[in-house]
Amino acid sequence: MKIAILPGDGIGPEIMAEAVRVLRALELPGMELHDGLVGAAAWRVHGHPLPPETLALMHACDALLFGAVGDPACDGLERHLRPEQAVLGMRKELSLFANLRPAKVFPGLEAHSSLRPEVAGAIDLMIVRELNGDVYFGEKGMRTTADGQREGYDIMSYSESEVRRIAHVAFRTAQGRSGRLCSVDKANVLETSQLWRDVMIEVAAEYPDVTLEHMYVDNAAMQLVRAPGKFDTIVTGNLFGDILSDQASMCVGSIGLLASASLGAQQTAFGTKGAYEPIHGSAPDIAGKGLANPVAMILSAAMMLRHSFGLEAEAARIEAAVAGALNAGALGADLGGTMGTREIGDAVLAAL
Ligand code: ATP
Ligand code: MG
Repeated sequence: MKIAILPGDGIGPEIMAEAVRVLRALELPGMELHDGLVGAAAWRVHGHPLPPETLALMHACDALLFGAVGDPACDGLERHLRPEQAVLGMRKELSLFANLRPAKVFPGLEAHSSLRPEVAGAIDLMIVRELNGDVYFGEKGMRTTADGQREGYDIMSYSESEVRRIAHVAFRTAQGRSGRLCSVDKANVLETSQLWRDVMIEVAAEYPDVTLEHMYVDNAAMQLVRAPGKFDTIVTGNLFGDILSDQASMCVGSIGLLASASLGAQQTAFGTKGAYEPIHGSAPDIAGKGLANPVAMILSAAMMLRHSFGLEAEAARIEAAVAGALNAGALGADLGGTMGTREIGDAVLAAL
């Protein structure tokens, strides 16, 4: 069980320290943690945000725990040297095509949601977003029309195999939850969405225990705010997933609570190889002050145990400890509390 520990920049090292303490407390046999540099931290030492040393480490490990990258000191650098390029490089290098983002309101935190507490209290959903295709990666450009205007274009496309592989991840995810999958598309107007829907229906035949439902993205956006408790697992393309997952995250209360997994097709001796990181960034405004909420990072470690190592019980233990600590008042400044990074880590460890 080799895990690459990549704290990155800003608050990355502070929150990673707490996640590592939690992992070590589980005393998992055979667990090895290997430190690596990424982002501005790597650029300072090696002159590149994703140096060969770090790439080699990523390939050698079974899973990656990733803090955050980004540093205002790098703003003037050429694009390929900017810290953010490390995330894109990692996803590309490891073909991580499935992004999983759970959104759940923890007991006791209902009032922090941007929704009414009684609506917020019911949220417990997982968004499975395709990460390697769609309009972001199609042909794009700027051209001149016959009447001399500039015209920008971005081609939206999905191949059957691209949809099929994300479909399998989504159906398996739904199997591990309540068995309800909602596929979000815009099949009434988009050919890509029609293909998406056809392939989802085809793959559904292999998962008789999962109930598949389809929803247009405009309706899904509305339902996420009106009745988010009705959703369990949502699968959608890159563009729709980008928007819906940020929308869902704000229903939870703080960006410091949300974890994510990025999975590919590669299987290790233990499970699916993947990278796990908070959805927030490096938060340079609070870096080095011990104020950052480490919960998103700790929950990312739990997702890693579940998806890359098949350690469901241990993952659930961490999640229960986090929920217990939060419910008992382990709140940082992001949630109107007074606890710092280390104190929140202590509270989670105590609950564990
Ligand atoms: P990026 O471009 O890397 O996503 P960003 O500028 O969009 O960065 P973040 O770095 O996520 O955004 O920070 C957004 C705001 O949320 C900041 O005010 C930051 O201090 C706060 N924030 C982010 N993560 C945390 C955390 N773990 N705990 C507390 N506050 C946080
Ligand atoms: Mg951001």
